[in-house]
Formats: sequence, C-alpha cells, structure tokens
Amino acid sequence: MIRYYMPTEIFRGEGSLKQAGDRLAQLGNKALIVTGRRSARVSGALPDLLEVLKKLDIDHYHFDSIEENPELSVVQEGAGLFRVNRCDFVIGIGGGSPIDAAKAISVIAANDLEQRACYQPDQITRAYPIVAIPTTAGTGTEATPYSVISDRKLKKKAGFGNPLMFPTLSFCDPVYTLSLPERVTIDTAIDALSHLLEGLYSRKRCDLLFPLIYDGIKTIINYLEPAVKNPDNLRYRDKLLTASLYGGLVIAQSSTTLQHSIGYPLTTHYGLSHGKANGVVMRFIMELFRPAVDNELQRLFQHVGLEREEFYIWLDRWLTDPDLQLPEDFITSATEEILGSRNMAQNPLQVSGEEIKKILRKL
Ligand code: NAP
Ligand code: FE
Repeated sequence: MIRYYMPTEIFRGEGSLKQAGDRLAQLGNKALIVTGRRSARVSGALPDLLEVLKKLDIDHYHFDSIEENPELSVVQEGAGLFRVNRCDFVIGIGGGSPIDAAKAISVIAANDLEQRACYQPDQITRAYPIVAIPTTAGTGTEATPYSVISDRKLKKKAGFGNPLMFPTLSFCDPVYTLSLPERVTIDTAIDALSHLLEGLYSRKRCDLLFPLIYDGIKTIINYLEPAVKNPDNLRYRDKLLTASLYGGLVIAQSSTTLQHSIGYPLTTHYGLSHGKANGVVMRFIMELFRPAVDNELQRLFQHVGLEREEFYIWLDRWLTDPDLQLPEDFITSATEEILGSRNMAQNPLQVSGEEIKKILRKL
C-alpha cells in the first residue's frame, strides 16, 4: 500500500508571491520573518514580501541572523523573539538554512521546547503556520516536513521531522534564484539530485513519484550546465527550481537515507557545503545500493539516456573534489554517528559500519 500526504499549498512561477500573497492574511496579524544576512534582500524576495505584508496590513519582526547550517542556539533565540513579539506565524526566506530555521522556530515556540528536545519527534504536538520562500534550487524544504539543525557544542548536525512542519504555503519563484553564485547553483543542484535518487533507494519509495524522480534527474542533467553558463536565464533557473521542488515532494514521502547521513559529519567537521557533501559520496552510495535497486536504476538511466559510467563522468565535472584523506579517528567517530542516524532505517539493504568506513576512506 502507498500513502501520499502533502498538505502544503504551493504557488509556483514568476510573480507568484505578489499574485497569491493575499493567502497570508489567513495566517494572522503578525509574522516573524526569518532570513540570512544578505540573500533574502539581494534575491528580491524580501522586498516583494514586505510589499505584500504592507498591503495586507500584516505586522512583522525580522530576524536575520541565520547562517549556513543553522545552529540550535540561534533558532532558540528566534523562538524567543517569536514569543516576545507575539507573532502568529513564521516566514522563512532563503536557502534551506533560513527555511529550516523557520520550521524549527515554529515548533520550538509552539511546544516550549528547550535544549535538544526538538530532535525528539514525540515532543512536537503543535506548530505555528510556516511559510517558505526558497531562493536556492536544492533542498526542496518548501515541500518537506523536515528541518536540519546543527548543534555546534556537540559538533553534530541532524534532521527532525513531523507532519506539522510541512509549510502551510510555499511560494516558488525562479526570479529569486537568479542572483545565486555559481558554486551555490552547482552544490544545491547536486543536493536536489541526491533527494531524487533517494526516492529510488528508500525502503519507503513511493512509485507514484517515479515519474517526478526520473524527470527531475533528467532535468538537472540537462539544465545544470546551461544554467551555470547563462545564470540570468530564467527558463533554466525555473527548470532547476522545479527539479528541486520535485526532490522535496519525493523525500517528503520517502525520507532520506545513508546518502544524506554520511554527508552531515563532512559538513560539520570539514566545512563541505551540504550539496557537495552529498556529491562526493554519490557514486559510492549508488554502487553500494545497486544490488537492491538495480532495476530502478536501469530504468532511470534509460530515461535519462546515459550509461551509469557516463553519469559518473557528468557528476565528476561538478565536484572539484577535495582530497580529504580523512584520519582514522574521524572515520571511526563519524561512522558511529552515521549508524545512529534515523535516515539509516530507509536504506534499501543492510549497511555495515565497515562499508561506511570503506567509503569514507576513499575521500
Ligand atoms: P543555504 O545554507 O541556505 O545558503 C547557502 C548560501 O547561499 C548562503 O550564503 C546564502 O546567503 C546564499 N544564498 C541563498 N540564496 C541566494 C540567492 N538567491 N542569491 C545569492 N545568494 C544566495 O543553502 P541551501 O543549500 O539551500 O541549504 C542547505 C541547508 O538545508 C543545510 O543545512 C541542509 O542540511 C538543509 N536541507 C534541508 C532539507 C529539508 O528537507 N529540510 C533538505 C536538504 C537540505 P545568506 O546567508 O545571505 O542567506
Ligand atoms: Fe539535502
């Protein structure tokens, strides 16, 4: 049996926030806007939002302290601001970092969660409405019930999820991705590719979504290079944003797998961006999982029109591999962390610690 659940109302396309922004009025009288330092402004999303809020007479407080890989203590500060300012809902603008932070703020504020309690799904019984306005084309968080938050004290990055954390509204306008620098365009596209592949790998794979998976992957392979070469081309940007949204729709049902768990320690300890951390292991994970999902992969590559080896060559072009040469003590501790992560339950086959170590030793 397959269950498909997606409560987010998604508006997609150029001008969608201005056209459908009046939907915000149903969420309350005051919003906490959650962003990073720059991108919400330079992408044009924040000015558009402020115009919509003014027209609707919705008050706001702007919290702009979110950095890449948002930090637990910062989202807790955000939840405090949400309460002190008596906000009704939260709006995340940016890449995955501010939007995930907005989701965490919503549930920490609604459930009065302290310290690391947000990582325990049974602690989340309420949420304030969440609005997502993506400015990167990668995480798909605008269509998922997940948030990924880092705890610097423990040097740990981990996700948590709850159906209450699906955004109520998402506005996906490719115009907001035109300002993305080349490196972020590439790394975020590789993140979207990871999500789509995990839709094939996961034990919870949902065959209703296979057409999106195959199409999303083909789109990234066909349009990443044109988008990198012509960063101002809205059509190419729209293709990548749509593939990223597909990735979100997919992992919202299937969850992620080892492909994501293995990247988190590479980000927290070696500073690799999220997409790059997924990319450097992608080929090894595909080889590891292939015995369990060979038919799905064969169908995928038929659809895309590439042999698997040609796909690996395409992938290598975007990775500018760091030669990490990870030390054994890191490999041992990272493997423990990875084995303990929730996503491991969705792997299509049993994965041993030794197999994870073997992959980490190749980097
Ligand atoms: P990000 O960390 O949100 O942003 C990366 C960088 O890009 C930041 O410097 C940001 O600037 C900049 N940027 C964003 N949009 C821009 C634009 N339009 N123009 C110019 N610069 C822009 O990147 P991300 O890859 O989208 O998000 C990664 C996070 O999402 C990770 O923590 C990852 O684990 C998480 N994630 C979540 C899910 C989920 O389902 N919840 C899925 C996958 C990944 P500012 O700092 O100024 O904003
Ligand atoms: Fe991801």
